[in-house]
Amino acid sequence: MTKTAVVTGGAGFLGSHLCDKLIAEGFNVICIDNLLTGQLNNIKHLFMNENFTFIKHDVTNFIHVPSNVDYIFHFASPASPLDYLQYPIQTLKVGSLGTHKALGLAKEKKSVFLLASTSEVYGDPLVHPQKEDYWGNVNPVGPRGVYDEAKRFAEAMTMAYHRYHGVETRIARIFNTYGPRMRLNDGRALPAFISQALKNEDVTVFGDGLQTRSFCYVSDLIDGIYKLALSSETEPVNIGNPAEITINDFAKEVIKLTGSKSKLVYKELPVDDPKVRQPDISKAISILDWSPKVSREEGLKITIDYFKKSLLKID
Ligand code: UDP
Repeated sequence: MTKTAVVTGGAGFLGSHLCDKLIAEGFNVICIDNLLTGQLNNIKHLFMNENFTFIKHDVTNFIHVPSNVDYIFHFASPASPLDYLQYPIQTLKVGSLGTHKALGLAKEKKSVFLLASTSEVYGDPLVHPQKEDYWGNVNPVGPRGVYDEAKRFAEAMTMAYHRYHGVETRIARIFNTYGPRMRLNDGRALPAFISQALKNEDVTVFGDGLQTRSFCYVSDLIDGIYKLALSSETEPVNIGNPAEITINDFAKEVIKLTGSKSKLVYKELPVDDPKVRQPDISKAISILDWSPKVSREEGLKITIDYFKKSLLKID
């Protein structure tokens, strides 16, 4: 029988790619999004598909789904630093109330529930690379606290529903991910650098640029999420690409790959900006038989092409 999956935040960058993957795997997909940061443009190609339904709804309110539901992927949340600074209360609400509602639906429907958590639960980490058993170094009252603490609460709530109600739960800790459908102006380093480089404008590096990130191409991430959902692992699993790079070198790489004349300029480092970030993915490798396949150069070329078309407004 055809399985049904609910994707909250299904019109967002990751959510929409997940909808595509689930449709390709033969699922009925119910995409729920309030379009706060998600965009209909990301899912419009699915509207004619009879296995796809879109519901515009804010999941901090009761979620009503009449049909059976086999899987729930809870991806709804503002997720770029700029977005959660702009929508701090919504970010806290969707991580707390929204996770509660989505778990309530999973309990009612006896669905497998997968939480899209984040490397931000590790905060500005004092352990490097980050392993799932590290508890993190988070400032609860800083500007990033609204996202970090909401996701930490969401993880705690997920484990409580698992332990107390016996819901089948999964927790993916998602590290920096990029690819087509990222918003050009979401404030993240990658879309900022690519659009600045394509326009030959100054590329804005925050701080001294020596902070590191590890960027995962979206198709790899979605494969990891899918494998985790089908596994029986209830403890958190890091999903990301361990290829670590400083933000300086990353900016230079983008300038080179775009053939741009842009120069680097340095701006103030945002508060609590993590100094290092790199996933230890040994757990995902051993229990999911998953590891990322797309190199940064390959992924960046596809993403640069996408941004070129978006900048020219070619659909
Ligand atoms: N960053 C930057 N220039 C920008 C945007 C971001 O140098 O225009 C830096 C940011 O301070 C951080 C890194 O790039 O150190 C990655 O930032 P991003 O917003 O992509 O996500 P984060 O990993 O901080 O959540």
